[in-house]
Amino acid sequence: MHRTFHRTALSAALLAGAALSALAQAPAAPPAAREPIDAGRLDAIPRFDANAVDRSVQPCQDFYQFACGQWVAKNPVPPDRSRWGRLSELSERNQATLRGILEKAAQPSPKRDPVDQKIGDYYASCMDQAAIEAKGIAPLEPELARVDALKSKGEIAAALARLHSGGVDALFRFGVQPDFENASLSLAGLDQGGLSLPDRDYYLSDEARFADVRKRFPGHVQKMLELLGEPQERAARDAQTVLDIETALAKVSLDRVRRRDPANTYHKMTLKELAALAPHFDWSAYFAAAGAPPFTQINVKWPDFFKGVDQLVQARGLDDWKVYLRWHAVHDGAALLPTAFVDEDFNLFEKTLNGTQEVRPRWKRCVQLTDEQLGEALGQRYVEATFGPEGKARTLKMVLALESALDRDIRDLPWMTGTTKKKALEKRAAIANKIGYPDRWRDYSKLQIARGDAFGNAERAARFEEARRLAKIGKKVDPSEWRMTPPTVNATYNPYENNVNFPAGILQPPFFDKTMDDAVNFGAVGAAIGHELTHGFDDEGRKFDARGNLTDWWTEVDAREFEKRASCLADEYSGFTVAGGVHLNGKLTLGENTADNGGVRIAYMALEDTLKGRAPQPRDGFTPQQRFFLAWGQIWCENSTEQSAKVHAQTDPHSPGRYRVNGVLVNMPEFRQAFGCAADTPMVRENACRVW
Ligand SMILES: [Zn+2]
Repeated sequence: MHRTFHRTALSAALLAGAALSALAQAPAAPPAAREPIDAGRLDAIPRFDANAVDRSVQPCQDFYQFACGQWVAKNPVPPDRSRWGRLSELSERNQATLRGILEKAAQPSPKRDPVDQKIGDYYASCMDQAAIEAKGIAPLEPELARVDALKSKGEIAAALARLHSGGVDALFRFGVQPDFENASLSLAGLDQGGLSLPDRDYYLSDEARFADVRKRFPGHVQKMLELLGEPQERAARDAQTVLDIETALAKVSLDRVRRRDPANTYHKMTLKELAALAPHFDWSAYFAAAGAPPFTQINVKWPDFFKGVDQLVQARGLDDWKVYLRWHAVHDGAALLPTAFVDEDFNLFEKTLNGTQEVRPRWKRCVQLTDEQLGEALGQRYVEATFGPEGKARTLKMVLALESALDRDIRDLPWMTGTTKKKALEKRAAIANKIGYPDRWRDYSKLQIARGDAFGNAERAARFEEARRLAKIGKKVDPSEWRMTPPTVNATYNPYENNVNFPAGILQPPFFDKTMDDAVNFGAVGAAIGHELTHGFDDEGRKFDARGNLTDWWTEVDAREFEKRASCLADEYSGFTVAGGVHLNGKLTLGENTADNGGVRIAYMALEDTLKGRAPQPRDGFTPQQRFFLAWGQIWCENSTEQSAKVHAQTDPHSPGRYRVNGVLVNMPEFRQAFGCAADTPMVRENACRVW
């Protein structure tokens, strides 16, 4: 979502093809200043609590309210957030752990090992606000001077490549992705990009939720340019230029729903074909300056976008491009510039857009930046402190239970024929799992981290990462590589490698709690594992085969039956509304909703397998089946600002917590039975949707 320093993780994720299917959207990372310490959180492990339910509500009336009512009432959105849920509690706790590690590593001792030197000095430099203020815009000036010195439009290509390598998102994105037709190989890729606002509709739609932000955008750009020293009048003119260019880019950008179909984002071509598609841009100069190894083929995700870029480069004068590049350099670097930049950035991208009231404390921003840029160095220390081999073994056991439940589910499906079932089972059997942290840690020894140089450290780290990624072009994909850092509170399915990934960060209460009964663990981490496995068979995942290649392995009739069932889910979720009556987009959230529905179902099957007909005594007044559904309900308890709910409805492929819970359970006879719901209650859907 929002950048921190230079959108490091973002372009990687987007170029991985269609974005990887995660359990939740990565939390927004607002930049900016101020300094309160909130210690003490470290011990407050948020756990499943059956006593926290809201007994004034009937479970068959509104199960989300029943499971979460008390939590929701007691946990308003903190002023430095726009959204607050159980996952945020967990990531907040991880942040506190990381802070402890970083403060220790930051002690300047000659005895520190290389890992501690890197993460410690990176963190200490980021925390050194006085040094950052004293330097002013000096760290950005060499970049600005290079842009200013451009003599012709022909030189834009190389300048853009340099900005991209430093993590600046402007005009388009270049990177590496698996070749959809041969997913074991890494291919060069070009993708749309260059927008400052979160979605093309912010530039194009007249709906107030978009138009209001758009109206305030030029004022923000103007202020940022004024902070760079531009006179007011010129900054105002330049801000309009930025809006004009980005609006033109938005018009040729592919929308989020159509990006979900891999057929829309796979257009492999030769460099000659690329040159014919966009002849006014010097691609050779661009690739050379980016430091890419030689290659002959490239995936141009959405060719129309690059036709548009080509026309735009022709239509706009060199001075306009200098303005656009200058804007993106300061926009993407704001997090490590002086407070005035951080605050102004916060005003538009957090306060106006998301309804956040306060800038996050500096230590939280610096912990997050260290995690983003030196994730596998910081991750080593995190894993040592929190995650033992037993965590890995117990999770693996649950994964196996879920896999066998999914196999049974596929075998028993009434709507799928044997031919497709056989392929589906082959694909399931080929799903690999990665749990906790990488077997081999990334080597950062060539990256220089200098104490007192926050901006330079971040820029060098971005270049280091970019070079590491581009070096993969034309090489075999390494499926053991991790794309999330160990403390991340999330999980993913990767359709091109056909594997599921569970970082150490999520394998803790309330997701996984060794003090809890099976019912609770299957309802939380079990359903999350089921969710990831089901992604292999959602609207997007089903188009890739066991080896991760874009291959149609479905018979025509089975594909039709799938579509019919999927559209039932799309219609169901499109009927749900958030703040201000804004509807969810059932097509945008289809993959996640399919995964939630399938994941809870197979986790329930796995629990029944584990219980083997035993009926353990109720705990806290709830049967194991009821505790299972309560656990699923309670991991999604959340509060959100009105603004953030609207942004998520537009951009997030995940439904908000209320519908991740109720939207699934209304489709499940098992839920109805567990709580004895009558047929005419709201938690029972007359024509229940079911894909898996
Ligand atoms: Zn997901």
